Amino acid sequence: MLPPEHPVARCRTLLRDVTPLQEDCGRLCGAACCRSLPGEETGMLLFPGEEACYEGRADFRMKPTPAGTLLICGGVCDRGERPLACRMFPLLPLWRDGAVKVAVDARSRAVCPLAEMGLRGLREDFRAAVRRCGELLAEDAEQRAFLIRLTRTHDELCALRKELMPSPSEPSRHEGGDRLV
Ligand code: SF4
Ligand code: SF4
Repeated sequence: MLPPEHPVARCRTLLRDVTPLQEDCGRLCGAACCRSLPGEETGMLLFPGEEACYEGRADFRMKPTPAGTLLICGGVCDRGERPLACRMFPLLPLWRDGAVKVAVDARSRAVCPLAEMGLRGLREDFRAAVRRCGELLAEDAEQRAFLIRLTRTHDELCALRKELMPSPSEPSRHEGGDRLV
């Protein structure tokens, strides 16, 4: 377990009950973000220290990767046990120019129907909670370094997507970093 004062624990608490939509968005897509594609083993990156929440668990597996520890689940979990990345999905707090900005996670585009709605299609309290999490994380040097790496990966994916699928109609709402008011 993480101590309650740990920044990741505080963020997990902030996002325990706040969801992207008023209703259960998993009904829209059959909880697409919880399913691995056939033959693929996907997971969510844990924030630094979050491994402590899953140690010794038979229903979760952790895999070290160059980007961080990947949590691999069975596709179903108790809501109270979701890792922080799942709680924030499909949003992501980015660290830009010394401040937190919230964006639709570039990785969500392939799986999440909400990604097309853009930031303002999602509940305001959810966006605000993700932003607050970004601020809490950014106060800690290790977490901030992780946010910087996530931001870099997000930007690389956005750039790649633009290169592969240029779309003049793609509005800036999807670009990494709409700041929340
Ligand atoms: S893929 Fe998107 S819409 Fe579907 S459950 Fe996940 S967050 Fe909700
Ligand atoms: S940890 Fe839970 S919420 Fe996250 S992908 Fe797995 S089943 Fe879904």
